[in-house]
Amino acid sequence: RSARQQGKQLVAANLQAGRSAAIALDIERDLRHALERDQFHLVYQPQMDLRSGRIVGAEALLRWQHPERGLVSPVDFIPVLEEVGLISAVGFWVITEACRQAQEWEAKGLNLRVGINLSARQFLDPMLFDSIVGACRGTGASPRLVELEITESLAMQDPEHAINLLKRLRENGFKIAIDDFGIGYSSLEYLLRFPLDTIKIDRAFVNNITNSQADRAIVRAITAIAQTLGLSTIAEGIETLRQCDFIEALGVNEIQGYLIGKPMAPSDLEVLASSFSRPD
Ligand code: C2E
Ligand code: MG
Ligand code: MG
Ligand code: MG
Repeated sequence: RSARQQGKQLVAANLQAGRSAAIALDIERDLRHALERDQFHLVYQPQMDLRSGRIVGAEALLRWQHPERGLVSPVDFIPVLEEVGLISAVGFWVITEACRQAQEWEAKGLNLRVGINLSARQFLDPMLFDSIVGACRGTGASPRLVELEITESLAMQDPEHAINLLKRLRENGFKIAIDDFGIGYSSLEYLLRFPLDTIKIDRAFVNNITNSQADRAIVRAITAIAQTLGLSTIAEGIETLRQCDFIEALGVNEIQGYLIGKPMAPSDLEVLASSFSRPD
């Protein structure tokens, strides 16, 4: 390649970077107002127990309704919240709102566990434990219906801190799930010393489950370990009945994915939870 060509590419790359930096700045400014302007809401994705065919839980997923950009994906704004130090405030809003919802469902006689995602920075926040316990008390939610989801990489950034915090949460009745399990590189032996209730098997292993023997072997191994340790398993990203059949045959307890339902409004989840029996 000529120097001129290379130079041109460099300029193009810088323009591109400059442009995304500007967009990032915009997003950052807008995110600072999003909480007070009530632009966040939670949607809930159903989790079905394969044995009973019932909806037994729902994962709370954060959505940002931007006045001009429309619905922004959490993948695009949660890293920004982390960077600019807003994750604890927004995270606390998520925890409180999800606990309020869990309490409302319990009062309506729906026995639904609610999953709440925790991000890396949030997890290192010394106030997190008190925030969670406080939100639960304040809303009247039962801790046994609140499941905190942490990722493998998050748990491994400071394992001692993680073990200590998770232990205290479990002693207070909360459930702990390890999210996106299997895609990290941590020592399995170490990870399984964490106080856990649930393993959420990453979608990456579900995608090709119908034609990948290797992925089936991985899922089978994870369920075997989970059973040995008395943990429950949830397979993420189930989109087809065939995937569901394979996953069920491998001994997974619960499924979550578009087959059962996309993340939805609480009222829609209630309808689903009170009417749902297994599709076949
Ligand atoms: P996650 O915790 O692993 O959540 C599952 C993601 O997979 C959700 O994306 C969900 O919509 C998507 N999904 C579920 N079933 C299927 C399926 O069958 N097919 C496909 N293709 N996708 C499926 P979403 O809502 O965009 O969230 C993305 C990630 O953002 C979450 O991954 C989580 O890491 C993060 N996130 C979402 N809400 C929160 C929150 O309140 N706090 C924190 N810290 N992170 C959050
Ligand atoms: Mg999750
Ligand atoms: Mg996940
Ligand atoms: Mg994921």
